[in-house]
Order: sequence, then structure tokens, then C-alpha cells
Amino acid sequence: MLKVALAKPVLGDAEAEATARVLKSGWVTQGPEVKRFEQEFAQYVGAKHACAVSNCTVALHLGLIALGIGAGDEVITVSHSYIATANAIVHAGATPVFVDINRTDFNIDPSAIAAAITPKTKAILCVHQMGMPCDMPAIMEIAKAHNLKVVEDAACAIGSEIRYPKDQDSFCNIGYPMGDLVCFSMHPRKVITTGDGGMITTNDDECDTKLKLLRQHGMAVPDTVRHASNKVIFETYPIIGYNQRMTDIQAAVGREQLKRLPGIVEERNQLANQYSEKLRHLNWIELPTLPKWATTNWQSYCILLDPQINQREFMQYLLDRGVSTRRGIMCAHREKAYDGVGRISGTLSESEYCQDHGVVLPLYPGMTGEEQSYVIDAILKFPA
Ligand SMILES: *Cc1c(COP(=O)(O)O)cnc(C)c1O
Repeated sequence: MLKVALAKPVLGDAEAEATARVLKSGWVTQGPEVKRFEQEFAQYVGAKHACAVSNCTVALHLGLIALGIGAGDEVITVSHSYIATANAIVHAGATPVFVDINRTDFNIDPSAIAAAITPKTKAILCVHQMGMPCDMPAIMEIAKAHNLKVVEDAACAIGSEIRYPKDQDSFCNIGYPMGDLVCFSMHPRKVITTGDGGMITTNDDECDTKLKLLRQHGMAVPDTVRHASNKVIFETYPIIGYNQRMTDIQAAVGREQLKRLPGIVEERNQLANQYSEKLRHLNWIELPTLPKWATTNWQSYCILLDPQINQREFMQYLLDRGVSTRRGIMCAHREKAYDGVGRISGTLSESEYCQDHGVVLPLYPGMTGEEQSYVIDAILKFPA
């Protein structure tokens, strides 16, 4: 029996050597490596600025604060996401308003947004779920009509692309800010990793300045500047900030990961195409599809089982054969933590359907043909 993991990060000698270089340099916290990683990241996605932070949850949190969102404000988002999306809104002191998703792409249903808007609505926090871009042209149209801020939760979506506007000949990278800012994660379960890590991209100078203050105690003169100066400088603290820095050790790893990204996305695409080709004829599985106006990094390849099939039994059947899977993305509104927190607009039936019938299949760079055939064979033999 083979053992097939759900996911594996791509880490090698390049990352190990980068780490050693930083350790030997004597500067290990946020410093020159973070600055270069930010420049390279911004350039990669086509944004004016990038601000590195310790993870995507705080990227979302600080992003909302930088946009002036707080107590008394409502933020429209999806329940069908990793719980950190909703948590960030609550951390900022605002109220999450949950709307439903579309089953076809597991992303926010733009037509549900307008109905959720009240005089308290200040922002839309949309999620590019599992790497699949959400319908940004439609979302931006609603946001502009109602003067709402837009934050993109791109935790999973580095390397994905979208046509913006939709009839555009070429694609632009997720991370080019279509709204106000875009937040990324570099947790090992995402497509590139720095152990933990986050990045916020924006084209707004003022917003970037604010984020860089917020992540480092509200300190107006960073320690790197003081250390480099031959004049004595006393720093000042104009605002109350947080300590949400990325370390130079992480940033050095991130710079190497960014170099690998095109190859990683290419490999993930090949694996996803193979699943789609080999499972297409099964009438008890709905396969994920890609709209013409986007590409995805396939952070997760999530199938939907026919409601007749028991999700847990299917997953156990695969686990008994050594194959790890995960159920569909969670719904925050079903967790105890959200009992009486936030508001639901309309129904969340599609969100719940996708959680209850979705199964994420193993997919990672380095997955061998033998491993993938083994998974596919096991699924084909499932007594549906
Ligand atoms: C993973 C994830 C997060 C949280 O990212 P961290 O870097 O682990 O804080 C937020 N939103 C979504 C959609 C995610 O998948």
C-alpha cells in the first residue's frame, strides 16, 4: 500500500542556504531581507507596494484597521472560508456579514452582496478560495456603486491570475490590487511557504505607510534606519501599533520560494488536469471548473460528491488505502465561536452544501505519477 499525503511544501537546499546566510549575518528580525522580499513580491504580482507581516490573519486584521474599519462597521464576507477570514473582521472590532457562495467556484456570489448592504456596510472582504480567483469585476462594480472598500483574502492565491476587466486579452496576477489591498499567506498549506508568513499588497502610498507603522509598534523610524545612521536618531510613536513583523530568516526563505513559484504552479496545473481527465466520466463526482477569465494555482483540488454518497465513508475508504483527503472548506457560521456573532444575509445553503459534500484530493509538487494513479485508481474502484 502506498501512503499519499494531502499536501507537501517544496523546500530544499536553496532555502536552507538562504536561512544560513541570514543567521550568519547577525541580523535576524525584520531587516534587509524583508525589504528585498517585499520588493520582489510587489514586482512579481504587479503591485506598487508590499508589506510583509507574520501571517495572513494579521494581514487581514491590519489591512482593515489601515482602511479605517472598526467598531460599528459591517464587512460583507463569506462564511465558507478558513475561520481566520471572519476572525480578522471581529479582531478589527467590526461585524462580519456572511453571504453565500457559488457552487461552481466555491467563491462569493456577487449577486448576494448587494442584498447584504446596509448603511453600516464599509467593506467587502472577498476570498479567492483554494486559489480560484473570485469574480473581481462584478465585486468592484458593486463596491464602486456603494463606495465600499475592498480587501482580497488571497491567502491561497499566489500565482493565480485574472482578466481584469473580463474582456482583457491578458491576465493580471492576483496581488495586483483591484480593490484597496490584497492579503497573502505563506503557511505551509499554501502554495509557497516561509513557515508562517503574510504579505499585503496595495497601490495606495498612504495605506502602505500605515501598514508599515502598524506592524512595528507604530514606530515612525524603523530600527534598520537608526542602525544605519551615523547620527543619533530618537524614534517616535505617532500611533498605537502591533508587533506583527516577519523575520529576515523567513523573508530569505520567501525569496527562494518566489523563484520556484512559476514551476510550482505549472506542476500543480498538470496534476489538476490529470485528475480532471481521469475522473471526468464519473457521474457521482462534480469536478472543479475554471472560468475563461481566470487561471488558478490549484492550492486545493476540491471535488463535490453526489449527496447520496456519505462524505465521511468516502474519505475513510481512501484513508484505509493510505490516501489523505480533507473535507470541503469549513463554514464559520456553524462553529460555536460564531454563535451570536456576525449576521447572515440570505441563505448559506451552497456554503453548507460545499462543506458537507466537498472532498479535497492530494495534490503537491513532487507527487509522482505512481502516487496520483494510485489515488485515481482507488477513487475509480469506490463502490458508489
Ligand atoms: C490559511 C488562510 C488564512 C489564514 O492564513 P494564516 O497565514 O495561516 O494566518 C486566511 N484566509 C484563508 C482563506 C486561508 O486559507
